[in-house]
Amino acid sequence: MSETSILVIEDEPAIAETIEYALESEGFRTILAGTAETGLALWQAESPDFVILDVGLPDRTGFEVCREIRKQSEVPILFLTARESEIDRVVGLEMGGDDYVVKPFSPRELTARVKAILRRTSAKESPRDLGEGDQLESGRITLSRERYEACLDEKNLELSRYEFGMLEVFLQTPERVFTRNQLMERVWDEPETALDRTVDAHIKTLRKKLHSIDPSFDPIQTIRGVGYSYRPDLG
Ligand code: CA
Repeated sequence: MSETSILVIEDEPAIAETIEYALESEGFRTILAGTAETGLALWQAESPDFVILDVGLPDRTGFEVCREIRKQSEVPILFLTARESEIDRVVGLEMGGDDYVVKPFSPRELTARVKAILRRTSAKESPRDLGEGDQLESGRITLSRERYEACLDEKNLELSRYEFGMLEVFLQTPERVFTRNQLMERVWDEPETALDRTVDAHIKTLRKKLHSIDPSFDPIQTIRGVGYSYRPDLG
């Protein structure tokens, strides 16, 4: 198997070097670019398997770079943002990024995110696609689509179709942040008739059902002002 190559587009040399060191010690090959222009050129020349993209670049924004890349490729993109206020744009406006990390971050956090994204994107491409099969499993939760059954630690959860649908979306891509709109589009038949608070209400009842089996189990994280994400490592 060939090495996974990661293009890092980041203009602050100290941050770029920290990332390079962290990734290379995990066995990834890194390619560094300090501007959007160099980044796009290297992306064309090297076809990396993964892109880490700073939002604040000197020549163009990371969002513009992402848009350029997305015209041609579905390569996983992890955004680096300097401000919490940029998160809304990263995930909310469907920039096409796969995830984001807010600066300052620890190298360990970054490599963990990269690996999580690579796991779920390669699972998506694999022919034994868990996303399309009957059984879906993540952490302590198991779903069976054919039997329309959801279990926590093998104990049955009685879920409504919306709760089941949201859990299915979460389990397909653990750790990804979904906006309420994204959840509606994936789960509701007529998303345009659903409201933000409809999603919130179903999340609430879903949490309650998980708590009825284990009161300390809380894998659904609220990302304030953005939406929700499923974190199997929590609880
Ligand atoms: Ca920057």
